[in-house]
Amino acid sequence: MKKRMRRLAILPILLICGFLLPARPALADTNVAMTATPMASYTSPWESVAAINDGIDPPSSNDTVNRRWGTWPNTGSQWAELTWSAAQPLTSAEVYFFDDGGGVRVPASWKLQRWTGSAYADIPGTYPINVNAYNRVTFASAVSTTRLRVVLQSGQASVGLLEVRAWTAGSPGGTGWNPPGNLVTPLNEVWQHQESTYPNLYGFRNYGWDQVMANRGSINYCVRWDSSASVTAAQRDQIHATLARQFKKWMDVMVGHNGWPYSSVPVKVVGWAVRDRAQLQWSDTSVDIYVNDIRENAPQCAEACGRFFNQSGNYPNCPGGASHHYDMSLWLTAGFGGGAGGDWGQRIGSEYYLSNLNADNVHILLHEMGHSFGLDDFYDWTPTGVCCFLMKAGSASSITEFDAWMFRDWWRHLKSRYGV
Ligand SMILES: [Zn+2]
Repeated sequence: MKKRMRRLAILPILLICGFLLPARPALADTNVAMTATPMASYTSPWESVAAINDGIDPPSSNDTVNRRWGTWPNTGSQWAELTWSAAQPLTSAEVYFFDDGGGVRVPASWKLQRWTGSAYADIPGTYPINVNAYNRVTFASAVSTTRLRVVLQSGQASVGLLEVRAWTAGSPGGTGWNPPGNLVTPLNEVWQHQESTYPNLYGFRNYGWDQVMANRGSINYCVRWDSSASVTAAQRDQIHATLARQFKKWMDVMVGHNGWPYSSVPVKVVGWAVRDRAQLQWSDTSVDIYVNDIRENAPQCAEACGRFFNQSGNYPNCPGGASHHYDMSLWLTAGFGGGAGGDWGQRIGSEYYLSNLNADNVHILLHEMGHSFGLDDFYDWTPTGVCCFLMKAGSASSITEFDAWMFRDWWRHLKSRYGV
């Protein structure tokens, strides 16, 4: 259960934490678009209006990877809108235009409208038109509405949107920072303890948070098979499925919370590292295979492809390119009891893992994943008023409400580094 945040030889940056932490933390703005239902005036059959609030930040206006909303071949005045079941106090909104340089281009003009209950009314503001960026309109005062309509007047071609973000000011009753009252004191104790224990807490840039955000909402793994046993293709797939199921438990804690931009975070196993290729009983090329690359007396995937070794997020020497990089390792060691976790991944016993493939909660793995996202151990103290939780090893076997709020507290303190 040891937490080890290992890092490269980076000069430690000392920050005065009090400077970054106001005595009363500001309530964070929340993007409520993902809780709305999207509709549009028209959608090309091969496009999807669901694109506009799926939480995926587009890589560019000519996004060829994610789903998009577009109206080709229709032109003129076109709209897409978000509908909520209850009125939202919106303070600003952002749109990301779809522009493929051909049949779909940025509009000649655009505006936002709110639903008054009987009609749509224009929202005054300044409406920028930029490609490859969010275009933000800040409202002079909060706009309370159940519907936000984006009206696009076409210019050179048809129009479209890749994403819409609708922001509300954080409120204690909203989806921002609102832990149960009995957890406020222990959460403050935990955060202060972490700040005093880790002087580089705010300078460190390889938490699981940094990895998921750098990938725009996914995580890649290498399996370090630190065992002499053989692995079948079926076992390989089960190991992946179990990993994804456990990782999802932590990510589900964040869905819809405090500006967290992803509704799901897919887990991809891109590589396997072994001592002997013959141990892996498959011949397909679905994962990269690394043979006898030994570090810490265990097989590893190529360092050129590892985030731990390339914290800039660039992988110029990774044979398969950046898409074959791995953020974390799932290090499975024969005869290993307990576990270890850090920014580099998680290490647990291979027999333990294989015997828990069908377990709902693989609690040692869950605990070590918590470390990968910054969560601490509690060997020598217990926060006020809480007894049993996953990160206090041996006291719980699943993510408790207190674990969930400690996890969210990391996001609360780090999210500004991602511009969220
Ligand atoms: Zn631990």
